[in-house]
Amino acid sequence: MGKATSERCEDSVSLTNGILSGERLLGPAAFDERLRRAASAFAALGVRRDDCVAVLLRNDFPFLEASLAAQRLGAYAVPVNWHFKAEEVHYVLTDSGAKVLVAHADLLAGLRGAVPAGVTVIEVPTPPEIVQAYRVTPEAARPAPGARIWDELIAAHPPQDGPPAPASDSMVYTSGTTGHPKGVRRKPATEEERIKVEEMRNLVYGFRPGMRTAIAAPMYHSAPNAFSLRAARLAELFIVMPRFDPEAVLAAIDKEKLTHLWLVPTMFVRLLKLPAEVRARYDVSSLQFIIHAGAPCPPDVKEAMIGWVGPIVHEYYGGTESGPVVFCTSAEWLAHRGTVGKPIPGSHVEVQDDNGNELPAGQQGEIFMRISYYPDFTYHNLPEKRREIDRKGLITCGDVGYFDEDGFLYIRDRKRDMVISGGVNIYPAEIESVLAALDGVRDCAVFGIPDAEYGEALMALVQPLEGRTLAPEAIRAELRQHLADYKVPKHVEVRQELPREDSGKIFKRVLREPYWQGAG
Ligand code: ATP
Repeated sequence: MGKATSERCEDSVSLTNGILSGERLLGPAAFDERLRRAASAFAALGVRRDDCVAVLLRNDFPFLEASLAAQRLGAYAVPVNWHFKAEEVHYVLTDSGAKVLVAHADLLAGLRGAVPAGVTVIEVPTPPEIVQAYRVTPEAARPAPGARIWDELIAAHPPQDGPPAPASDSMVYTSGTTGHPKGVRRKPATEEERIKVEEMRNLVYGFRPGMRTAIAAPMYHSAPNAFSLRAARLAELFIVMPRFDPEAVLAAIDKEKLTHLWLVPTMFVRLLKLPAEVRARYDVSSLQFIIHAGAPCPPDVKEAMIGWVGPIVHEYYGGTESGPVVFCTSAEWLAHRGTVGKPIPGSHVEVQDDNGNELPAGQQGEIFMRISYYPDFTYHNLPEKRREIDRKGLITCGDVGYFDEDGFLYIRDRKRDMVISGGVNIYPAEIESVLAALDGVRDCAVFGIPDAEYGEALMALVQPLEGRTLAPEAIRAELRQHLADYKVPKHVEVRQELPREDSGKIFKRVLREPYWQGAG
């Protein structure tokens, strides 16, 4: 009994160097102590098991401290997307019933009125590296007069002793296709489940003793969140970057001899687009394991990454609700170009037709999945919504794909992005991966727009590389050499900017909307 307790390592810290953010290094002992003090502070503010602690922070130590301290109490950390406007923040705080909100001063400054009465607000002065990265004004970086300050609160409470409560996950709000964001609330794991989930995460992140890693994706997003909360406990060194700057990432790999990275495909593109002489300046040979997920990676991009850093570029597939379910090593990908991999141990993945029948290899349908030991989830306050994505206990993230004869999964596209033109199903992802590889193209998005004759027609928005000019007709002509005629977009527009989410997914909803306004 005592042994089991002492072996519970959910929040024990095996960091050896510490966590680095800008010029600030937080050593492991100090980090551990701050976590325990933060847990006492939350407890003193009335936070109990199953309560919510909202975290409205950019990548910074307090993000990790507040989240892990909440979880230590068996409460849920609720990371809030800091792109959200006041109304959305208000919704998440109200819906989650958050007792406490920990927020960077500059984010809060833009959100007056968004915090419901009864939520205790704790402010974190916005640190210099974030001030610089996001051009925050000095006034906005300072907490409001009389505010409760994170560091002061930590200093004022003694470190909490004793074993942590059964670990809860973060409760991440996913924006979904329509309506308000939904809080994905997972049941607390049993000890056996927790160990299995830990093993599964170690597999997909490639975690091993002595790993040195960094995060440059925003920690409010489910995948970087899960990665970061583990890296902060288990890595030798964990660098928290305020935002993704490709050259800064290379410099960190070189200087700190990083071994592991979690990236999204757009980050690959931006790294690869650095001039060769810039790339050559940095030694990246310390890298042992790069994991990517979150959005489709164009095969040419993946090949170029493997060509650069070697066969250490691995991938997983999954979503906020499902967790990672499929994993692929570089070697497997090279032998099965375009795959996202094979189901990981304990996960069941099947491709179904519209009637819920499992489809054989080679046939395309909606992907359903579940990991046997991953604690089940519900949508907080919206349990009925769970049914919309559930079939016989398996859930879907709304992706369409197929298995090959060797059991490797391929994603064609997201069901909601599929375009039906003249009765034919077209998957924009396929067209985007051809477009992205064309000379002079920096980024692109393909979607359907209303068409009097075909119902929907394809629209391609294309962003040129800096200093390059692209002609829509020339793009169409090039696409015709690679794609069947019906897949060549009827409309091509050149745009100087295309918005992407931090998770690497293109903001299709935003791009598509103006074309459908008034179309009914
Ligand atoms: P939101 O509902 O907030 O818009 P989302 O639906 O994009 O979020 P996430 O959980 O953030 O949900 O992302 C899951 C989706 O990301 C998957 O359904 C899939 O479309 C995409 N994805 C994840 N990993 C991969 C991968 N390796 N290759 C291709 N697509 C991936």
